[in-house]
Amino acid sequence: MYIADKKRYEKMKYSRCGNSGLMLPQVSLGLWHNFGSNGNFDNMTEMCYTAFDNGITHFDLANNYGPVAGAAEENFGRILKRGLDAYRDEIIVSTKAGYGMWQGPYGDGGSKKYLVASLDQSLKRMGLDYVDIFYHHRPDPNTPLEETVRALDGIVKSGKALYIGISNYNREQTMEAVKLFNEYGTPFIINQRRYSIFDRTIENDGLKDYAAYNGIGVITFCPLEQGVLTDRYINGIPEDSRVRTDGRFLKENAITEEKINRVKALRGIAAKRGQTLAQMALSWILRDGDITSVLIGASRPSQILDNIGCINNTEFSKEEREAIDNISLM
Ligand code: NDP
Repeated sequence: MYIADKKRYEKMKYSRCGNSGLMLPQVSLGLWHNFGSNGNFDNMTEMCYTAFDNGITHFDLANNYGPVAGAAEENFGRILKRGLDAYRDEIIVSTKAGYGMWQGPYGDGGSKKYLVASLDQSLKRMGLDYVDIFYHHRPDPNTPLEETVRALDGIVKSGKALYIGISNYNREQTMEAVKLFNEYGTPFIINQRRYSIFDRTIENDGLKDYAAYNGIGVITFCPLEQGVLTDRYINGIPEDSRVRTDGRFLKENAITEEKINRVKALRGIAAKRGQTLAQMALSWILRDGDITSVLIGASRPSQILDNIGCINNTEFSKEEREAIDNISLM
């Protein structure tokens, strides 16, 4: 029987999610990789326990996480049943719909038909009555935004989600959605976007500033560029790394000599700060307080422990910021 570490809340910092009442841990755990039907169940369980024992209260899923699609939710449901569900009121579970999930015209996009049915399926797979945050996973240009927003609002009214999020919506798309959410009084609290030292899109499209100014939470994915912004690939491509074990989204051709030279230079800055490169990459995201939580992935518990160290040193000098920019933006 799992008993959580009594000191778990001493090991994490929590940030308010925008103007909402919800606090999120500054580090959250995503179940996109390593929780599929090909993963090791004991390892998945240990990763969730390690996270929760260290104050990571937020677990991020989506209908299609696997492989096979749905498997991560099923496995997380099994982990909850094994004992984590004793702490359900201390845990934030999020899931999403928006990418292709099942065949035919109702298993993809942003229609009410898809979103309502998908959340019902997700709840069944996880064995839950409700999720804490339900996201529309990506904008759908073919569905009127009003229909998507109304569907999300109805989902909250039905009690199947407490809060609403959107993901991969840029600044303009977020502004349009916010107008509608405000009209309906929907508890929309967060946008989930990609952000890392190497990917500055949310700075360039204005979403980061807009969200901070308007009290909208932001949680950022792939903060370690799927492992590239760590020590993982510095001496070649290990057999147990994502490129080799599940290279659906991280291909070998992304690990170029030029990229690794930048990674090595960044590692030099991290070492001077007394951090691992992974820690510095995560601290950098938390540096100005605009980002509510960094959403990490992991293939083993030790990576989670390493990454949590990022919360202890989120101050960067002007020189450090400029040096990081010079290496990553040149
Ligand atoms: P990261 O950039 O954090 O990459 C995680 C991978 O990096 C791990 O699987 C591991 O790879 C490696 N790693 C992690 N920590 C360390 C460490 N300390 N030292 C060395 N290597 C390390 O994030 P993900 O790409 O996994 O994405 C995180 C989450 O974001 C997802 O689980 C999902 O919840 C969310 N997401 C959302 C999207 C959206 O559209 N909304 C899209 C993508 C992700 P290895 O296997 O090689 O050990």
